[in-house]
Amino acid sequence: MMMMHEPLSHTALRGTLAHDAPLAHHTTWRAGGRADTLYVPADRDDLAAFVGTLPAGEPVTVIGLGSNLLVRDGGVRGTVILMHKPGAMAAVQHGLIYADAGLASPKLARFAALHGCSEAEFLAGIPGTIGGALAMNAGCYGGETWRYVVRVEVLGRNGRFVVHAPGDYAIGYRNVAERDGASPAGIFTAAWFRFPPGDSAAARARIKDLLARRIATQPLSQPNAGSVFRNPPGDHAARLIESCGLKGFAIGGARVSEKHANFIVNPARDARAADIESLIAHVRAVVRERAGVDLEPEVRIVGDAEGIVSR
Ligand SMILES: Cc1cc2nc3c(=O)[nH]c(=O)nc-3n(C[C@H](O)[C@H](O)[C@H](O)COP(=O)(O)OP(=O)(O)OC[C@H]3O[C@@H](n4cnc5c(N)ncnc54)[C@H](O)[C@@H]3O)c2cc1C
Repeated sequence: MMMMHEPLSHTALRGTLAHDAPLAHHTTWRAGGRADTLYVPADRDDLAAFVGTLPAGEPVTVIGLGSNLLVRDGGVRGTVILMHKPGAMAAVQHGLIYADAGLASPKLARFAALHGCSEAEFLAGIPGTIGGALAMNAGCYGGETWRYVVRVEVLGRNGRFVVHAPGDYAIGYRNVAERDGASPAGIFTAAWFRFPPGDSAAARARIKDLLARRIATQPLSQPNAGSVFRNPPGDHAARLIESCGLKGFAIGGARVSEKHANFIVNPARDARAADIESLIAHVRAVVRERAGVDLEPEVRIVGDAEGIVSR
């Protein structure tokens, strides 16, 4: 049960503030613990006002659509900010495509296709937000988010917005960092993309094909978080996991998908985050031992294990 709460310092805020809020339904794995505090901003300015009220030491965790995220069962200390917004906007601005960070990436793919752009189609199969795609440099089928970014808007802990160019970051495979290697500071709130001009009907047809390919190869009817491990150079994590006979291997409610070995599914929606994390560790250990490859997780793990509270 989410509790509404409005302390005095927050009276001007228009978003939704809740304490001890469950996070499982804000992740596509449908598992995990609760947030000490959860804030769903009303809009960009409300988000800035809220972040500006947070004490300097308050831990802040951002969730988009939780499609690349494992929240441990003991929950997340500090404040979680939920960025996904059903009404988030895309627009054409001065020849660029603008997107709010809370926009679902597939919506941007469709928007770009409808506005005569090509190469944004890959985003149709990535079920997260634009903010998550920026944080992860999400990509597939040869496309990668940052290849098309012209600039991003970032909200700092001081409640102020800054604009950054791709050159301000070190951008790699499923990874974005500050130039010094630190995690990107602040919250991505918007991005401007330049996609090459193309044929709208052809782009829409490619989106249709790509989604059909995904339905055929991925266990989309069961809660999952996409590829659990990054592909090692020159190989595929799914091939390695399958070659180790791990398809169908289960721990508690979590199971290595029979359809795609790099997916861990939660078919009965009763997996604990600890089941999923143990299964990730098991798969990693077996592949390391039998195939000699140390698979690196692509999914992000946040929060405390059950019974452990980090204060
Ligand atoms: C069925 C399925 C298929 C998938 N296929 C692909 C694929 O082909 N390619 C691929 O790359 N990924 C894929 N994914 C993984 C996932 O969809 C992407 O990583 C996506 O970009 C994550 O976006 P999100 O909004 O869900 O981020 P979340 O999972 O909510 O968060 C991921 C990380 O991004 C950070 N973050 C989120 N929003 C912001 C923000 N606004 N500012 C700063 N940090 C932020 C979070 O703090 C966290 O560290 C797939 C997932 C699923 C479930």
